[in-house]
Amino acid sequence: MDCQGEPSLMDMPPVPGLGAAHQQRLMEAERRWAESHFGARGGDGPASIGIVGAGLMGTAIAAAVVRHGIPVRLVDLDHAALASALPRTLRQLNTSPGAPPRTAPEVAGLLRTSPELAALADCDLVVESVVEKLAVKQHVLARLESVVAPGAIVASNTSTISWAQLATPLQEPGRMCGCHFFLPFGQAPMIEIIRGAQTRDDTLVAAVRFAKAIDHLPLVVTDAPGFVVNRLLVPFLAEAMQLLTEGVAAEAIERAAENFGMLMGPLRLLDEIGLDTALECALTMESSSTGLVIRSPLLVAMVKARQLGRKTQAGFFLYDEQDERPRIPNPQLAPLLARWRGPSRSHTAESILLRLLFPMLFEATRMLERGSVRDAAQIDLAIVCGFGFPASRGGLLCWADRVGAARIVRLLETLEYLGPRAQPPPLLLDMARQNRRFFEPLP
Ligand code: NAD
Repeated sequence: MDCQGEPSLMDMPPVPGLGAAHQQRLMEAERRWAESHFGARGGDGPASIGIVGAGLMGTAIAAAVVRHGIPVRLVDLDHAALASALPRTLRQLNTSPGAPPRTAPEVAGLLRTSPELAALADCDLVVESVVEKLAVKQHVLARLESVVAPGAIVASNTSTISWAQLATPLQEPGRMCGCHFFLPFGQAPMIEIIRGAQTRDDTLVAAVRFAKAIDHLPLVVTDAPGFVVNRLLVPFLAEAMQLLTEGVAAEAIERAAENFGMLMGPLRLLDEIGLDTALECALTMESSSTGLVIRSPLLVAMVKARQLGRKTQAGFFLYDEQDERPRIPNPQLAPLLARWRGPSRSHTAESILLRLLFPMLFEATRMLERGSVRDAAQIDLAIVCGFGFPASRGGLLCWADRVGAARIVRLLETLEYLGPRAQPPPLLLDMARQNRRFFEPLP
């Protein structure tokens, strides 16, 4: 209980069934919206898919496509990445919850690799999934455009770079959209489909059909750095690193997030994503994210020290190639942290949780104010399907409704020590004054 006699955030367990019913309702509505706007009902999905970049995400996308019996051509410059693409795709397929096991010959029958973009000439849809660097992506997309068939769709799996920047060198930007995939964290799979200013409707129809063919929820969003998912995720991850610099132990941060119901804590999530990729995302979003901590100096130091997370077996935690769970906190973290340590602050599980959640909530309300999402439902879908926010809580805004805007504003007063960045956005203050909610209560 707090001083007002209200239960602490940690003592508010999810209401059984409420979160799942909320998510189910939002997913059905989003699917209906996509079908009615982009005519996906009954249409054929692509017969063959090309992927450029056989890294972590390229093979995750390949696994999602192969699982549905659709042939994939996978291209990479790096021969070592190509050589290991089949076993990595097989591992992704066989570690997904509930999926029937596949054999190497089954996967090899559908997955072909090549060092040449020309191998993608007859694919219906090609997803670019190379490193998150604007110049590299622009170069690959421009080359792809001259290789693929005239009617083929070109998509980018960028996490943060706006469509407007990516499309600059293209002759025919109308056939390009974003198809942003996520690591499979056991939630419903989703593709964030980014509609650029010139993306044609038939391109979106093809992207929505692709999502349907591989049983992913299509979340059609507008163009902005970080789109929807990463506009919420990146500040959450940055806040976790901020807490580390205030002397909070990595395990305490992870425990607060996991006890709340997250599939994994923010530091482990950073390790899974790859700290180099996370830094590129932060750099892209920094200039468009006033009032948020986006680029932690600790992240820069970790990347310079090549502590990149699971891909180098050392990030915030140490990893073993054969083992899913991290082993122990990385001892290399302490000397790096010593350089960036700010004033120490004592924290409880509740204050850690509040610090992790408030930047996401602020950005979510600002997105609603700006109209950069269609509605609150897109936020809750993005956050649950995109990075493992607890489905049992329905989503960030469903959770905020349960706590109540007035109570959240009162809790935020405890973060005054952070200065203006903990000042609630106008929409949240209005909701608190008028006792308003993001969603109507479920019947
Ligand atoms: P990664 O570093 O694991 O893989 C990138 C691959 O691209 C490497 O194999 C590299 O050899 C290849 N590559 C680089 N330049 C190339 C070129 N010119 N032609 C062909 N191949 C080239 O990175 P990743 O984590 O797979 O990220 C790839 C993309 O997916 C990025 O845009 C990233 O933002 C996005 N993404 C990543 C995640 C994540 O959790 N890591 C999630 C969603 C989206």
